[in-house]
Amino acid sequence: MTDPLKPGSTIGILGGGQLGRMLSVAASRLGFKTCVFEPGGDCPASHVANFHLQAGFDDEAALIAFAESVDAITFEFENIPTAALDVLEAHRPIRPGRDALRISQDRLTEKEWLEGLGLKVAPFAPVDDMQGLTSALDRIGSPAILKTRRFGYDGKGQARIAADTDAEAALEAMNGAPAILEGTVDFSKEISVIGTRGLDGRVACFDPGENQHEGGILRRTTVPASVSHGVATDAVLIASRILTALDYVGVLGVELFVTPGGLLVNEIAPRVHNSGHWTQNGCMVDQFEQHIRAVAGWPLGDGSRHSDVVMENLIGDDMDRLPAISAEGRAALHLYGKGEARPGRKMGHVNRISG
Ligand code: AMP
Repeated sequence: MTDPLKPGSTIGILGGGQLGRMLSVAASRLGFKTCVFEPGGDCPASHVANFHLQAGFDDEAALIAFAESVDAITFEFENIPTAALDVLEAHRPIRPGRDALRISQDRLTEKEWLEGLGLKVAPFAPVDDMQGLTSALDRIGSPAILKTRRFGYDGKGQARIAADTDAEAALEAMNGAPAILEGTVDFSKEISVIGTRGLDGRVACFDPGENQHEGGILRRTTVPASVSHGVATDAVLIASRILTALDYVGVLGVELFVTPGGLLVNEIAPRVHNSGHWTQNGCMVDQFEQHIRAVAGWPLGDGSRHSDVVMENLIGDDMDRLPAISAEGRAALHLYGKGEARPGRKMGHVNRISG
């Protein structure tokens, strides 16, 4: 095992959004410096990181300069081009490793891999054209959801298909991209587990959170989730199994559907996750610090929950409520420093504490 990074070392973060911002804050609390690689200027992470290297993911010279200026590399989004990772990996360790990225970048690969691990997922079939969609619908039935295999987030690149829906229109919504048809799961709840695996192989999971989505975007996460002890334990065991199978280092988000037949894995995200933001005010050590500890080769911290929390995302014109929210008691506000509050844009979140 490599030596743990010393305070004063620099952690490189690919991507400059709010997740990179909160990772930078956590890193700085442990005495690390951060360098953010992000093509856009004036991004949330650049406001708090020590350095911002503004260049494209196809700029090989910039990637090499970035890698050589840091001690370890991590990322805040999963759709990093493979060629960029090849360049970076030749110079510095990337944590978590390539396998997790390769698997989670493609919904089809991800579902096949999860099934191979013996975990339950929604019925699925690949769809590349109308013929493929017709045979997938014959097999899976409707209602179903057609999703692009790659680059989907916050419900984007998805089309729901009911018995009376025009399947051709759903296929057109994919804009020619390879897709996957998933049977619609009749779930009672959506929960997620944020798990961490250290460089030494130890695993620690935060308590499962219960998620509510609106328009495909996470609206609220509540902890504890209102599920039985058995379901919560199963969820944690599933996350642990995924982390270990991937030989993973860092934080991973696992989204699950609760059904009468047990837990189904919806998707995995190889990074800190929006449904783990509650940990900032519900635990001694939050998901951002846990991730930095793992990337730095430090022991994982104590992520046990000391309070009940409801995390609410502040999206678009939710920011109009800021004067009232900022005056609330037992509420911790986290804003991302973004300029314009456009519809669907995550501007911040608030963690309301009880218990
Ligand atoms: P995803 O981008 O796959 O996480 O989907 C966003 C949200 O759409 C999920 O959190 C669910 O609320 C819903 N959803 C996605 N896939 C399914 C499915 N197969 N069955 C039922 N609901 C789904």
